Amino acid sequence: MDNIVIAIDGLSACGKSTLAKDLAKELNYIYIDSGAMYRAVTLFAIEQGISLEDLPQHLDKIHIHFEAKDNAQAVILNGKDVTLDIRSKEVNELVSPVAAISEVRSFLVAQQKAYGKQKAIVMDGRDIGTVVFPDAEMKFFISADTDVRTDRRTSELAEIGKTLSREEIQENLKTRDHIDSTRSDSPLKKAEDAVEIDNSQLSKQEQFALCLKYVESRRRKD
Ligand code: C5P
Repeated sequence: MDNIVIAIDGLSACGKSTLAKDLAKELNYIYIDSGAMYRAVTLFAIEQGISLEDLPQHLDKIHIHFEAKDNAQAVILNGKDVTLDIRSKEVNELVSPVAAISEVRSFLVAQQKAYGKQKAIVMDGRDIGTVVFPDAEMKFFISADTDVRTDRRTSELAEIGKTLSREEIQENLKTRDHIDSTRSDSPLKKAEDAVEIDNSQLSKQEQFALCLKYVESRRRKD
């Protein structure tokens, strides 16, 4: 079976990363969390005290890469492991405005496209099927109820020791979804050829099994 590109887009906290990681593991593909890259740029701006207006002039000082660490993927920003720092409340609050800046998008999209040169990649985000890999052989667009997404994000954050209130988390998801869907550059939207999945009623395993079937049939076709 040929190697393909798998693009996964959707709303915040709807389980895209879990699905992407599981598919990558099963297929022995590379997994890239494009949201982590927007988060790393946001963390850089916060730590360096750079305003959103000035950020485009500082992008050449930002080096992001991923490293395998303890069975997971670490996000490295200018040589420092920022895997946990990019999940902070401050980053959550600023990441969508940062991601709406066109210069930030072209800076990261170029790196994301380069990751996909050899195919055999699963990438999740907001514009993967529409902008980063418009020719991806397999595209998914994932959604879930806001309450379900809030519960999932609340427990995910608790697992890494970040205890935010449910209300705070829900507010942040709604605000980010709104900014991400209405920005002028690469708004979140379903690619015409994406398979749409609402996973509100699906377990992780059910979603994985369903998506793997789609992927396998697509790989046989190519
Ligand atoms: O996926 P995650 O929720 O970590 O993404 C954080 C933010 O990064 C999103 O809310 C969105 O503003 C931005 N993002 C984006 N395009 C992507 C991935 C993420 O604009 N491909």
